[in-house]
Amino acid sequence: MSDNVRIAPHNARHIPAEVKGRLRELREKAVQVYRRLLEVYGEPDWRPHYPPLEELIITTLAQNSTDHNALMAYRRLRERFPTWEAVMTAPTEEVIEAVRSAGLANQKGPRIQAILRKVWEEQGNFDLSFLDELSTEEAEAWLTSIKGVGQKTASIVLLFCFKRPTFPVDTHVSRVTKRLGLAPERATPRQIRALWESLVPPEWYYPLHLNLIRHGRQVCRARQPLCERCVLQDLCDYYGARRKLE
Ligand code: SF4
Repeated sequence: MSDNVRIAPHNARHIPAEVKGRLRELREKAVQVYRRLLEVYGEPDWRPHYPPLEELIITTLAQNSTDHNALMAYRRLRERFPTWEAVMTAPTEEVIEAVRSAGLANQKGPRIQAILRKVWEEQGNFDLSFLDELSTEEAEAWLTSIKGVGQKTASIVLLFCFKRPTFPVDTHVSRVTKRLGLAPERATPRQIRALWESLVPPEWYYPLHLNLIRHGRQVCRARQPLCERCVLQDLCDYYGARRKLE
């Protein structure tokens, strides 16, 4: 790695002003975080990734839900309708009913139909492999132009299915990053993404993203983080501040 932190043009305006002068210092911490999480959790392999359209739909189902409930809803959807065309043209209430186990079904049912309509109307099939011919920015713009598909969902599809250099930021990544002091408390998911994408090399995005989620679920939990068990203690601003108060 060179001494200077390289910021890609699409990330430049998203780096929070508060940390702009400290990027080299933050990179040292980010490298330690990556290495230690890798030691604890190893190279992650949580669940098989699906073809792009399926991954997009499962990720949509997983919004504000668990992987388990999202996969249950996805399986029910596939059992209930024989083809994607049948999902797209079904009465919306039936799609909502099929995905109920994922939660927020009244939003997710119409969202899934909107995704299918957009792919069908523009491609004449249900294949997202054309995204591989676009630049990462173009592919992200295409995905996020669908109502209900946000940056996190687009990043997951692009990273998991197309190995594109994007760093998805969910609630766990966001919380752990802020507690460590790698991002300011008020940083948005887009700002946190810009930071990680600038601080570590692209080949780390996939394992680091998944290991941060794992750490957030198992140790750095939203309520009552298990700091006594955490391998990141000496790197963590939140822990340091808590110790000072004791
Ligand atoms: S020390 Fe505590 S707050 Fe900091 S990363 Fe670990 S679990 Fe989270």
